[in-house]
Amino acid sequence: MEATIEVSGLRKRFGPTVALDGMSFSVQPGHVTGFVGPNGAGKSTTMRVILGLAAVEEGSALIGGRPYRSLRDPLRHVGALLDAGALQPGRTARNHLLWLAHSQGLTAKRVDEVIEQAGLGSVARRRAGGYSLGMRQRLGVAAALLGDPPVLILDEPFNGLDPDGIVWMREFLAELAGQGRAVLVSSHLMSELQDTAAHVVVIGRGKVIADTSVAELLAAVSGDRVTLLTGAPSEAVRVLSRAGATVTASGQGALTVSGLGAGEVVALLGAGAVPFSEVSAHRATLEEAYMELTRDAVEFRATR
Ligand code: ADP
Repeated sequence: MEATIEVSGLRKRFGPTVALDGMSFSVQPGHVTGFVGPNGAGKSTTMRVILGLAAVEEGSALIGGRPYRSLRDPLRHVGALLDAGALQPGRTARNHLLWLAHSQGLTAKRVDEVIEQAGLGSVARRRAGGYSLGMRQRLGVAAALLGDPPVLILDEPFNGLDPDGIVWMREFLAELAGQGRAVLVSSHLMSELQDTAAHVVVIGRGKVIADTSVAELLAAVSGDRVTLLTGAPSEAVRVLSRAGATVTASGQGALTVSGLGAGEVVALLGAGAVPFSEVSAHRATLEEAYMELTRDAVEFRATR
């Protein structure tokens, strides 16, 4: 089966609320695709539609070219983490996974493999009721991996993770995608997807605002800038502005320079005999790219 997700023209209302308003995008194998938008934008609803858990008024959602409902042994085609809270508290993680595996004809050996992969080895025989949200997220990912599926759909897998957990999850998702899977990961925070997603689908109010590679997104932002500490700010502004830079004061003798590289800034200050104590380059972050991208999307901002 092809490792792809294709969503086309989804429309869905909940009473008077338009949840999906022509949602269309596709997810390719081999990299993590971030699915980003503010709370209420329609991420969970889209994922539930893809997984056959919610109906739409219009449009289609296909996994490997087929609707979810037509898949035999769905866990072997697609793994999902939707609501990590939804666990039977009295059951151990291992028993939870054994129960899922059994329902799909998968082995206990596979259960132990995914427990190891998700880093749950030390707690797998404890009752899930005592798990932190981070542990539940790991258990949810372990469950998603049971059938070794080519497609993974994870709704807010970073929720509740501590900083180490976030790093772990990023690396794990990148590794799973590197194995040739299509990995769709939602988040309401673009920053969580830094260093993981190679592609992002940004949504607002039930439709796609941007569908772009992260490299293109970062290249399009003017966020690359240089921070400069100097005792002679007005001279620095004069010299750098003349060379075409935009310079703004950011307090305490610090200047923010855009439009020139750090090397050029140093050379110009040197040539102009302008004293400075520090020059540091700052690369645009994914979060900044996101802010810039959505700055003009009035409709989108209204939902924040
Ligand atoms: P996200 O996952 O991006 O936070 P959702 O898909 O959960 O967004 O929600 C999209 C919109 O649909 C929101 O306005 C939300 O309030 C509404 N919605 C979602 N599920 C339901 C539901 N079961 N009943 C009524 N409204 C819902």
